[in-house]
Amino acid sequence: MASIFTKIISGEIPSFKIYEDDKYLAFLDINPNAIGHTLCIPKTEVDEIFDLDDETLSGLIIFSKKVACAIKKAVVCKRVGVGVIGLEVPHVHVHLIPINKMDDMSFDSKVKLTENEFIEIMKKIKSFI
Ligand code: 5GP
Repeated sequence: MASIFTKIISGEIPSFKIYEDDKYLAFLDINPNAIGHTLCIPKTEVDEIFDLDDETLSGLIIFSKKVACAIKKAVVCKRVGVGVIGLEVPHVHVHLIPINKMDDMSFDSKVKLTENEFIEIMKKIKSFI
């Protein structure tokens, strides 16, 4: 069965898309740790990051760099934290999370955004890509 993220790629499930090319997609996390929390995924459905072939893995990091640089310009933060968890969705994804302190990488604290707030931050990040 297709993963939630494969359904997001196809448009079957809606998302706030930030950027995509033929191999990768970036979209806002629906339950963000912080405003601007973005997921970068390969369009090929693979569960674990280190099962990706080297070319797809290195391409994912370079793609994530482009998106992280745009997030850094769009959101006031000290860093854009990078994380790979994958306990919930078995489709490789890189979390890009604007952070000011270590605790901001904790998945225990979440922010609630309205649809308009999602749209606003999506547009802002996109404008820096
Ligand atoms: P992980 O697999 O890394 O533990 O967590 C999966 C992440 O995907 C979570 O941060 C969760 O909020 C996000 N997520 C799960 N389902 C959806 C969805 O349908 N849309 C979006 N945009 N994000 C999702």
